Amino acid sequence: MALSDFPRYPLTFGPSPVHPLDRLTAHLGGARVWAKREDVSSGLAYGGNKVRKLEYLVPDALAQGADTLVSIGGYQSNHTRQVAAVAAATGMKAVLVQERWVDWPDPLNDRVGNILLSRVMGAEVRLDPAGFGVGLKPSWERAIEEVRQRGGTPYPIPAGASDHPLGGLGFARWAQEVAEQERELGIFFDTIVVCAVTGSTQAGMIAGFAGQERPRRVIGIDASAKLDETRDQVERIARRTAALVGLGRELADDEIQVLPGWAGERYGVPVDSTLEAIRLVGRLEGVILDPVYEGKSMAGLISLVADGTIPRGSNVLFAHLGGQPALNAYSALFTD
Ligand SMILES: *Cc1c(COP(=O)(O)O)cnc(C)c1O
Repeated sequence: MALSDFPRYPLTFGPSPVHPLDRLTAHLGGARVWAKREDVSSGLAYGGNKVRKLEYLVPDALAQGADTLVSIGGYQSNHTRQVAAVAAATGMKAVLVQERWVDWPDPLNDRVGNILLSRVMGAEVRLDPAGFGVGLKPSWERAIEEVRQRGGTPYPIPAGASDHPLGGLGFARWAQEVAEQERELGIFFDTIVVCAVTGSTQAGMIAGFAGQERPRRVIGIDASAKLDETRDQVERIARRTAALVGLGRELADDEIQVLPGWAGERYGVPVDSTLEAIRLVGRLEGVILDPVYEGKSMAGLISLVADGTIPRGSNVLFAHLGGQPALNAYSALFTD
């Protein structure tokens, strides 16, 4: 099978925009930095990378006769907010298990930002005190079972839509989209920088780019602070997705690159480099990043461009995956 053989339910406006970050480039004095914007790619509840993944899960859910999407994430999960939006837009219900993944003291952590938006969209939100982890969770299985017991047909979506057979397809398609945009722009992105946590965003990209003629680096920046688990997850999903879209060869080990160094000690807790990256890109470009994911991956890009690991004279594409609503739960970090 090829990627184009999989049914896709369009939830985005079309190709996400690509544009240069010229003031950031001048400031860093190295490689030319561009962004591809998943945060403005969809009309659904501020968009983000999970909408693109869900384009391939929705046809499967509808084919199974599902009426309720059941998913899981942290209190400030962008993923569950996007599941709530997709459920609303496709006429389904959403049941969301929201766990205490981040030990963050903001008293409005379980009320503002993403979780507020999910409630506005009519999702059933269930708070759970369990900590960070992307594996099978009893609370999620309980929620799935309860939907069945009340006569519904659940469609389970794991954290980040990653550990799902179709979870990597959305970003395999992103790789094709990049190649088309490169032809239009007359440019080649030598390096892609992307945040990695549950893994299918980077994994899908790796599988997608692996089928293209000209090789490039897809650098994942770990934001989970659990590097080994994230790398395993990226590798497993990349290999599964490559087989699914008929790549016709095994991925080489060096095609899977997840770098540590910018996650800090804990998922969801920003460090100095995160806050510096958020402020720098906000002030120079008017582009907003969040403290959980994109602030960390941008901090990685900034270091790698500044020290020449991403060489001068090359083009680097920052995959902006969304996530801004979570900023509302971190307001104390930005009071002067
Ligand atoms: C989920 C998410 C990521 C991480 O993507 P994975 O596919 O889980 O690795 C990065 N940035 C934002 C804003 C996200 O919501």
